Amino acid sequence: MLQSYEMRVLVVEDEKRLAENVARSLRENTSCAVDVAFDGEEGLFLAESSPYDLLVLDLMLPKLPGLDLLRAFRKHGHKTPVLILTARDEKDSVVSLLNAGADDYLAKPFDLGELLARSKALIRRGKGEHSPVIVIEDLELDSVARRVSRAGELVVLTPMEYRLLEYLAHRPGAVVSKTELLEHLYDYNWEKFSNVIEVYISGLRRKIDEEAPVKLIRTHRGLGYSLQGKENKESRRGLK
Ligand code: CA
Repeated sequence: MLQSYEMRVLVVEDEKRLAENVARSLRENTSCAVDVAFDGEEGLFLAESSPYDLLVLDLMLPKLPGLDLLRAFRKHGHKTPVLILTARDEKDSVVSLLNAGADDYLAKPFDLGELLARSKALIRRGKGEHSPVIVIEDLELDSVARRVSRAGELVVLTPMEYRLLEYLAHRPGAVVSKTELLEHLYDYNWEKFSNVIEVYISGLRRKIDEEAPVKLIRTHRGLGYSLQGKENKESRRGLK
């Protein structure tokens, strides 16, 4: 089955059953972490307090309408892709949605498969990814097939190891804190998992780096972790 891995999605929808169906579908088919807000105020608060890769936003919401949420979110400079769920399909409202900063919209009732396809496309576009394969030295990560190889050898990872590696691979050379990794691996209550990152990192090291001449996973004491090849290191040095 074709699967793509996404990081973190916020669904803002007051119809609880629909919100939960959308969230479950995204979790099951993309294995991303999904948060749900049932009104516009909570939605805006969450959207601005965590780094999301996609917002799925209903228009008719209690407390703060979706369009107002979207305008405020864009006005504050957030570039996260936004997929609107709308019961309306008049041309005027579509134009006003796009003007307000929506990236795409789906008219209700919609098919969950369609929602998934649009969501995946928006997340990929948001990351500026054109090829699903990330290459760092001789490490290859295929984010559609969710397959990892090092020096041409397939590496078998647990789902969490994969998610952690993929998150690091999206920003090669960047030091990512343990907290940020936890936030991306888990839903909102990530604090209770705070000891697991070291376990996943040591698993990844054993599978990816142990037998390779160039070590890609680095620990930055007190700061976090990075995934980088020789080139990253050199280009970073060059900048200093
Ligand atoms: Ca609604």
